[in-house]
Amino acid sequence: MRPNGEDLATWLRRQLKDDEAAVEREIQTEIGNVLAVGVPITREEFLAQSGGRWHSPLAELDARRRILDLHTGPHECPEWDQTVNESCTGYYGAEGCPTLRLLAVPQDHRPGYRDEWRPA
Ligand SMILES: [Zn+2]
Repeated sequence: MRPNGEDLATWLRRQLKDDEAAVEREIQTEIGNVLAVGVPITREEFLAQSGGRWHSPLAELDARRRILDLHTGPHECPEWDQTVNESCTGYYGAEGCPTLRLLAVPQDHRPGYRDEWRPA
């Protein structure tokens, strides 16, 4: 943990929770619309009948969480070394991990993102 804020892994985990909550609100709104016309339906039935519409956002959130879990804490991680133009492996904590830095780019406009996290 940084003295003045979250580390990258903690910040990313919070973004995931926000994104999951937003997707779940949309799903619950649509389920509410179905229930409002008198059709009893469970969340599982709704998802199964949605023609795969929710598969991508839910699968993406799951994949992002699994990647985050793999890159939290000290670990080895591949990175492209532009000085020799080839892949190399480094040892990183959550702050320097090149995979987490890339994973954070789609949310780089959100509060708390630090420019020092931007991939090289
Ligand atoms: Zn990593």
